[in-house]
Amino acid sequence: MAPALYWIRRDLRLADNPALTAAAQGGRPVIPVYLHAPDEAGAWAPGEASNWWLHHSLEALAGDLAARGLPLVIRHGDSLAALESLIAATGAEAVHWNRLYEPALIRRDKGIKQQLKARGLEVHSHNAALLHEPWTVQTGTGGDYKAFTPFWRACRRRAEPASPLPVPERLQAPAGVERLDGAVMPLDPGNGPLTALQLLPQVDWAGGLRARWQPGEGGATQRLEAFLEAALAAYDEGRDLPAIAGTSRLSPHLHFGEIGPRQIWQAVQAKLARHGAEGWLVTGAESFLAEIGWREFAHHVLYHHPDFPDAPLNPRFADFPWQADPGERLLSAWQRGETGIPLVDAGMRELYTTGWMHNRVRMVVGSFLVKNLRLPWQAGEGWFWDTLVDADLASNSLGWQWVAGSGADAAPYFRVFNPVRQGERFDASGDYVAHWIPALARLSAKHRHAPWQAPDGVLADAGLTLGVDYPHPMVDLKASRQAALAAFEQIKKPG
Ligand SMILES: Cc1cc2nc3c(=O)[nH]c(=O)nc-3n(C[C@H](O)[C@H](O)[C@H](O)COP(=O)(O)OP(=O)(O)OC[C@H]3O[C@@H](n4cnc5c(N)ncnc54)[C@H](O)[C@@H]3O)c2cc1C
Repeated sequence: MAPALYWIRRDLRLADNPALTAAAQGGRPVIPVYLHAPDEAGAWAPGEASNWWLHHSLEALAGDLAARGLPLVIRHGDSLAALESLIAATGAEAVHWNRLYEPALIRRDKGIKQQLKARGLEVHSHNAALLHEPWTVQTGTGGDYKAFTPFWRACRRRAEPASPLPVPERLQAPAGVERLDGAVMPLDPGNGPLTALQLLPQVDWAGGLRARWQPGEGGATQRLEAFLEAALAAYDEGRDLPAIAGTSRLSPHLHFGEIGPRQIWQAVQAKLARHGAEGWLVTGAESFLAEIGWREFAHHVLYHHPDFPDAPLNPRFADFPWQADPGERLLSAWQRGETGIPLVDAGMRELYTTGWMHNRVRMVVGSFLVKNLRLPWQAGEGWFWDTLVDADLASNSLGWQWVAGSGADAAPYFRVFNPVRQGERFDASGDYVAHWIPALARLSAKHRHAPWQAPDGVLADAGLTLGVDYPHPMVDLKASRQAALAAFEQIKKPG
């Protein structure tokens, strides 16, 4: 039987993988191929932290495939050309892949599908990444949703998500596939096709990422189980506290498709069924599933507004009077976590060290950049894109436009987060800031979120000199808030 190509993209798992299952249907030999073509994502080629993750996730997948006797084939360069050359070399008659939803990749995939079909191949794309694909959720008048609550209500009215697929029982490689150019088997010995992609940093800054994460399907499954066991029941409250592991930290695993939302949905329902749906658990589960819903909403918005990552959804914000930042002095202090505002700096240091930041703190650092520093949200979006291991075009754009007040269901611009009050409320012990800014650990909880307000004697007792051990605040929070509101008044005026 002629083999089928299974084109791997951000679906780096074997379970609940419709493209892999369909490719292997009827005992057809399967060739899993990963085609590395970052330029095809247009302006949004993956950043450094994403590349680090991708390397390790591909390594894990290659191991899982090898355990079932399938070599992973890796090629670099134009995707259509690579597919054509593989088809010519293997006699493959079918190609399967799971869909991606970024505008540039939708265009690319449509083109490739057309070309391959015109050559007589059987070509199928599938849904592995979403509970509801963006075009399937519509308002009563057939339009798209601009607000989360009615969107999620409409999703919940639809049929329950399909049950996740098992790993295909029989996976079989065609004879001789291990001799193909780019075949990874045995595992990449350090100079093989995976290493040749040069996804790992030249200078090793990734120690903090290695300590925190285990990329790959195994790591994703473990993370889900640990979260369901330890944090789901208290999620509704725990999710706002950055000092504890109150959220799932599944975002990079979801982004790379090491786990899919159908699997998460089913695991949550199974947990509810096992525990007889106790009140706390139900509340936690509903809030958690709603966050999975926000991910769906982000994809919905991006699909219907392809320029969402670059331009404000609300066009009035196109003329926002941003602050000039010669030499990027302000931006750079924010990026390095040296603004002198503890919760902001702790978040930015967590991001730089681990490739991830707690959602509450993402909102705070975002608000600080866009409102207190009055720098364009795209600058923050770009930095997150490069440094987050979960950098995701849909969710990152949604997050930044939410913070900036210009997006779908966004926070109103005039609501400016006060990072001191946010800290006192959601990090009352100050443990989170003390962990990421050790110099502040010497202060009591009372002063950790606003050390500049501490009496001189308290600072002296803690051996803390502001401007030496930790910066003075780079802006006055009250005055910069007023300036932001005044700037907002300018764009509110018609004409
Ligand atoms: C400025 C800003 C930028 C962001 N950029 C990204 C990004 O690039 N990639 C990304 O995955 N998330 C992004 N988010 C959303 C959110 O912060 C992360 O999804 C969340 O912190 C991931 O942690 P978790 O897996 O523990 O989440 P949990 O609370 O356990 O939530 C479960 C899952 O739901 C999804 N989710 C949760 N909150 C959101 C949300 N607000 N929007 C969309 N999906 C959500 C994620 O896939 C997450 O893994 C951003 C938020 C802001 C405010």
